[in-house]
Amino acid sequence: MYLKRLELRGFKSFAERVEINFEKGITVIVGPNGCGKSNLTDAVQWVLGEQSARLLRGQRMEDVIFSGTAKRRPLGMAEVSLTFDNSDQSVPLPFEEISITRRVYRSGEGEYYINKRSCRLRDIQELFAQCGISRAAFSITAQGKIDEFVSARPEERRVFLEELAGIGRYRQRKAEALRKLEETEDALARVEDIILEME
Ligand code: ATP
Repeated sequence: MYLKRLELRGFKSFAERVEINFEKGITVIVGPNGCGKSNLTDAVQWVLGEQSARLLRGQRMEDVIFSGTAKRRPLGMAEVSLTFDNSDQSVPLPFEEISITRRVYRSGEGEYYINKRSCRLRDIQELFAQCGISRAAFSITAQGKIDEFVSARPEERRVFLEELAGIGRYRQRKAEALRKLEETEDALARVEDIILEME
């Protein structure tokens, strides 16, 4: 599985629709300061579900929407799509290509899609956790992340490695199951109280 294409529209400095096709192997993006290189990695992180505006170098999530220039009015929506080649079936879905899309409007509303079908963020996270791709894993290594890994406490380092190995989703599901268990126990306790009152 490899990243095949990145498409942006209205995302940060990319007002026009831009399509970047990647070949297998290493791709290097070069350009002068401020031309938008880091905006591209922000876009990848964002479409994978990043919820922190700060980690995307903004203050609010709307900051990812093109905010206009002297010659061009601001836009009302940002959209990013990421397409992976899935001919090796790394993601167990019967598609040669898997494309995920995220959209956000100035109103704050947002949408996610897998192969153009509307979905939840959780569906995207679960899909990619199976092959170790996530915004938290080292599939995206920002400046300073290596330092962070080296100086992390052993427990923190284990979380990174678990994420990479694709078992982060089980941790997520366990947390969710425990939360539901707790809610059910509370509900049960309430029912027992009511029964006692009625007796
Ligand atoms: P450097 O080499 O200095 O790290 P870079 O190529 O990584 O630079 P970026 O940080 O990706 O550059 O891009 C910065 C540019 O993106 C700035 O000119 C900034 O004004 C522009 N920019 C960021 N957010 C928006 C936005 N919402 N709307 C329009 N332009 C934006």
